[in-house]
Amino acid sequence: MALVQCPECGHQVSSQAPACPSCGHPLQNRAASSPAQPQNALQSPHVWGRVAVALGAWLVTPWIAKLIVALAVCVLAYFMFTGR
Ligand SMILES: [Zn+2]
Repeated sequence: MALVQCPECGHQVSSQAPACPSCGHPLQNRAASSPAQPQNALQSPHVWGRVAVALGAWLVTPWIAKLIVALAVCVLAYFMFTGR
């Protein structure tokens, strides 16, 4: 296990650590070599891409559509809680 020096406080930190345990400074050993593709890039872009698309769609959606969705959710919740 290699040790690297924290750029913030100079503390010796394991290269495996995501952040310095002394000052909390984030260590980007792997991200530095390939900034666009972090190690867990295989799972996150898919999920976050979807979230981003959903968020973008939600922001573009007119308020009346949001109102309809909110109403649908309310009606659904109403029937779920009172239906049985
Ligand atoms: Zn530090």
